[in-house]
Amino acid sequence: MVLWGEWVDVDRMDPCKYQCAHCDALVGPDSGYLCDRHGGALGKVYICPNCNRPTYFEMSNDRTQIPSPRYGNKIEHLPEEIEKVYTEIRDCMSHQLYTAGVLLARKLLMNIAVDSGAKEGVSFVTYVNFLESEGIIPKDGKDWVDAIRQAGNIATHKIPSINQELAEDIVTFLEFLLRIKYEMPGRMARK
Ligand SMILES: [Zn+2]
Repeated sequence: MVLWGEWVDVDRMDPCKYQCAHCDALVGPDSGYLCDRHGGALGKVYICPNCNRPTYFEMSNDRTQIPSPRYGNKIEHLPEEIEKVYTEIRDCMSHQLYTAGVLLARKLLMNIAVDSGAKEGVSFVTYVNFLESEGIIPKDGKDWVDAIRQAGNIATHKIPSINQELAEDIVTFLEFLLRIKYEMPGRMARK
């Protein structure tokens, strides 16, 4: 969704390439606002040419981008509820909240199962078995689901340490699942 309207008194600046956290697009605007101190830029605000929303760059701090771009990729044709959880997982990842991200990954797997016709309120294992028997999880993907099961199993066990690499692998697997289950059929239907 575009923010309709005009930013007042924007300046022409050096173009800056970044992934906009608001709309996910890779953009390279050349207009915005500069925070100047004796000829040096302390901060810059760029306006996204795609969605017209501002992103702030703190120049002293290795060009920190605020809001930071979402981890992973946007997926088309997701049902609203699934998209909400997936976006939240991406937000967790871009803020280094790996345990929270993996817990949500577990929830997302259950959502996918229910959306595919599984009964609500059953155990995680039952959902996983359902996804397998329906062929939604490919045969070679079983190890990944097992990793999600173990990593997200903090209700009855002590909290496991989930490192960045494991969390990233799990989210990449989920992305693949969502593409196969929703995006590819959606594209096909459009044609
Ligand atoms: Zn944007």
